[in-house]
Amino acid sequence: MKITVLGSGGFGYPLTFCDCEYCRKARLMRGKNIRKRASILINDEMIIDLTPDCQVAMNMYGKDMGKVKLLLQTHTHLDHFDINQFTTLDYKYATKRNDSLMLVCSELCLNDIQNKVSQYDKMDLYNDEYLNKINLKTKTLNHGESMFFDNYTIKAIYCSHDEKIGAQLYLIKQNGKSILYATDTPPLTKTTLKELKGEKIDCIFLDESFGIRDYYFSHLNIKYFDEYINKLKQNNLLNKNCLIYATHLTHDGNPPHEELEQILKQYGYMPAYDGLEFKL
Ligand SMILES: [Zn+2]
Ligand SMILES: [Zn+2]
Ligand SMILES: [Zn+2]
Repeated sequence: MKITVLGSGGFGYPLTFCDCEYCRKARLMRGKNIRKRASILINDEMIIDLTPDCQVAMNMYGKDMGKVKLLLQTHTHLDHFDINQFTTLDYKYATKRNDSLMLVCSELCLNDIQNKVSQYDKMDLYNDEYLNKINLKTKTLNHGESMFFDNYTIKAIYCSHDEKIGAQLYLIKQNGKSILYATDTPPLTKTTLKELKGEKIDCIFLDESFGIRDYYFSHLNIKYFDEYINKLKQNNLLNKNCLIYATHLTHDGNPPHEELEQILKQYGYMPAYDGLEFKL
């Protein structure tokens, strides 16, 4: 499985209007310190989260959005879902696609996407005729449920980040390898553990929004990131050489990349960065 990090920031780093020490440093140092909103691309054909930065990221890293077959949406907070990019699927933008795109998300998430896009543009994601016309398929997958697509197994996993819009995480398996994409999320719950039971994870991208800050709410700081990983280990869910990446990094607690790298190294973790690509 080839993984490409399209974005590793929470809300973008440096933050748009912010002039704090970390944002100032990021603007000066650039490179890995510039973080687009968090999403990943798998095998150049599956995107997790259509963020407002996806289109730019795909172009930057030589990827083709027209070849993406599957869009897994974790939730619709606007740093994860871009209404404008989504609505360009509509025929009035003269979008041409050979393969159809499949949108996978929870039922509540699909409702919310429908609400958002219908306010902005006329789209009816519950009308099969319309979906055929724009070459889009939708598949609701609620936490605890699995689906197959080509040779992938995709499982939606519970998290308590925002239950009213059905926020969830995804476990993706292919050719004996598995990756857990776990942002946005607060600390691990019993339901999450139950749904992950029996899995062996080779790579995890986990929310580490608040870094060295001593607080967390609906996201994690390093302390709770470490606690989350340790619970996964105690439950035998991680393979021995599991790659553990921190993502959704915000300016509110995460120092410049190299400094953060040193801090996370002590725990055996790594900060993700935009453009990172590797094979599992
Ligand atoms: Zn800042
Ligand atoms: Zn969120
Ligand atoms: Zn977020």
